[in-house]
Amino acid sequence: MSDRITAELLSRWVHEFSALVSVHHDRLNALDAAIGDADHGTNLDRGFTVVAAGLPTAPQRPGDLIRHVGRTVVSNVGGAAGPLFGTFFVCLGDAIGNDPALDTRRFALGLRAGLAGVVARGRAEPGDKTLYDVLAPAVDAIDAAALAQYDLPDVFHAGLLAASAGRDSTIDMLARKGRASYLGERSVGHLDPGATSACLLFTAATLSVT
Ligand code: ADP
Ligand code: MG
Repeated sequence: MSDRITAELLSRWVHEFSALVSVHHDRLNALDAAIGDADHGTNLDRGFTVVAAGLPTAPQRPGDLIRHVGRTVVSNVGGAAGPLFGTFFVCLGDAIGNDPALDTRRFALGLRAGLAGVVARGRAEPGDKTLYDVLAPAVDAIDAAALAQYDLPDVFHAGLLAASAGRDSTIDMLARKGRASYLGERSVGHLDPGATSACLLFTAATLSVT
């Protein structure tokens, strides 16, 4: 199979993510109830329902499509997650450009630009118990797998394994950013909701190629 990433595949990815957010809506709210304000699932689901509904009429070139998704997320997702997830997609879209079919290496660089956008906006550092703790290891794993010329499903699978480990690593972390940081020591022992939803990005990626 081709390891090229087309706008159609990117659209499937975003669609799968929206579907997963909808399925996991209550669980994401429950995770946020433990260390925040119980709205993370609702925030994301509201925004990505709008995003998914707009996919059939969204721009059909990779960079334009993903930038459009990012802008829709910024305007429709509330809480801290809206600007953070939105910036991730906008920066990813800017970085991948409009080549009709990207290779995995270029996509990995795009994901790294998305991560840099999240950091520029939220200033999260490793171990702060945020999306960063999923995105950073997943991007590294995808980058390494792309460099090693793995097939596309294996590249995404490597990303998912690293993302899942990153998500689980947030349980023992003390939150240093966002609402959960107000809890101090009491934030330890809970999965971070944003890390959990960020991990779904990589589940969605694997689903988009199977
Ligand atoms: P809010 O905290 O405004 O209610 P959400 O509940 O939608 O927003 O999102 C909470 C998630 O946002 C957290 O679980 C965390 O992963 C993420 N988050 C919060 N602040 C930051 C930040 N500065 N950088 C990266 N991620 C952050
Ligand atoms: Mg919240």
